[in-house]
Amino acid sequence: MDVIVTDAVFVTMAASKAPAEAMLVRDGRIAEIGSAEAVRAAAPGATEIGLDGATVIPGLIDAHCHVADVGYLATAADCSQPSAPDIPAIQARLREAAERTPEASWVTGGGYVEYKLREGRHPTRADLDQAVPHRPAVLYHTSLHACVLNSAALAEAGFSDGQPDPPAGALGRDGEGRLDGVVFEAPMFALFERNVREDLARMDAAARVRLIQGAGRRLAAMGLTTACDADMRRDTFAAYADADSGGALGLRVYGMIVHDQVDWIPRGRHSDKLATQAVKIWADGGMSSRTAAIQGTYPVPPYGSGILYFEPDVLTGMVRRLDALGFQVCIHAQGDRAIETVLDAYATVIGGPAGNQRRHRIEHGGAMYPALTARAAAMGIVMVSQPGFMSTLGDGFRAAFGDRADELYAFGSWRRAGLTVAGSSDAPVITADPLLGIRDAILRRTGEGILLGPDERLSALAALDLYTTQAAYAAHRETEIGTLEPGKLADFVVLDANPLDADPERITDIAVLATVLGGIPVHQSAAVFPEG
Ligand SMILES: [Zn+2]
Repeated sequence: MDVIVTDAVFVTMAASKAPAEAMLVRDGRIAEIGSAEAVRAAAPGATEIGLDGATVIPGLIDAHCHVADVGYLATAADCSQPSAPDIPAIQARLREAAERTPEASWVTGGGYVEYKLREGRHPTRADLDQAVPHRPAVLYHTSLHACVLNSAALAEAGFSDGQPDPPAGALGRDGEGRLDGVVFEAPMFALFERNVREDLARMDAAARVRLIQGAGRRLAAMGLTTACDADMRRDTFAAYADADSGGALGLRVYGMIVHDQVDWIPRGRHSDKLATQAVKIWADGGMSSRTAAIQGTYPVPPYGSGILYFEPDVLTGMVRRLDALGFQVCIHAQGDRAIETVLDAYATVIGGPAGNQRRHRIEHGGAMYPALTARAAAMGIVMVSQPGFMSTLGDGFRAAFGDRADELYAFGSWRRAGLTVAGSSDAPVITADPLLGIRDAILRRTGEGILLGPDERLSALAALDLYTTQAAYAAHRETEIGTLEPGKLADFVVLDANPLDADPERITDIAVLATVLGGIPVHQSAAVFPEG
């Protein structure tokens, strides 16, 4: 059926910059967009839907998101605020969750923020023990940089009162030095990763499909229509494939297969929604945990220079093999020492900017300083990074990088050097909300309000580019998505304000009224489109 969308501000992101008053959607694609007259002439008698002056932008693309983890957390007890305003409410949510959680799994809650709770503190093991006394329970902080364990979970995780803090992490303690149940950073990530993998292994196929659907709903509510899954494995690929064949995939997923799983997952395009054409490798650790591999040493504990996960010749061998197999290679590299190693590896398969035909990527690129940027630009490397880290993790970067913090996540320098720079969230490490990423790319302010690297700020248009045209290119999809143009898939988002005109401070207040995937509404917060 033909539908004409009118009475809207269209932000097409197309190179032509031609203004548009109406858009014709036919068979899941944009058939025409332009003057109302031209669009009506292309489909006489088509149903018209007026949007009351709302703004229509291309479906947003998260170029690096842990989609299945987002779905996993979506199935946990909702302990976010204001849904759970205090610790008794969290206890009630966890008691309910205990009743529906399989015996072998940990009772799981998520989404709390200690300073938003009425008590103004982290819940403790004692609080969780009252709700779930006889089996392990975990409550994840919304940032995923901390969690709370009850006594049974502390015991099962092997944490005990007398022990020192684990590497790159910390254990909360009470006045007498006993563990209070709160776990920070690296050991929390290890626990989360273990729980996700074990729970996925226990789920039946239907439960895994529900998990993928939950992720799709959550991301669609934020205006996302495509995500690059940054760690696709056998279990999650099977879930995506089942969801896709059952018509339950509410999101386009471009999978990066974890490098040691490439022999188990078929490579290629499986449908217009599911593809596995890329591979993920981790070259080093993280910035906040100070495990990113840097030149020199960190001025703060644990004072090392980070961790390189592979010897340079091993990494080069992996890149050469995967490139020969036809994969796009996506390497997590945060510290300058890791980035240099990755560029050395890429140099063996890329000769000049035109030579990067597979669009090999650097994921994050936190400490990619000017000399490395010039080298990456000369090779045509695709950067996939996270402006939203500024407001969520920026103060930690200042502590770990001191004077050089202004040079981190150098979006402005990268764009000026001619690099393709795609926007992403790394959710659930931070929220997947692309409007937060767009705001932070413009403002670059930390949580404490400090401006990091004024020269690295982007215009609103460039910031939106990260999540549309640039992210589409990073996933080899620029001919299909990323702009509103005739022939492209009808992936678009209806917003109650135009992010290009809005006060940047207010961009995260913009409401997503509807998200449309291939012409079909997959999220509506207002009755914008008729159902079906
Ligand atoms: Zn990631």
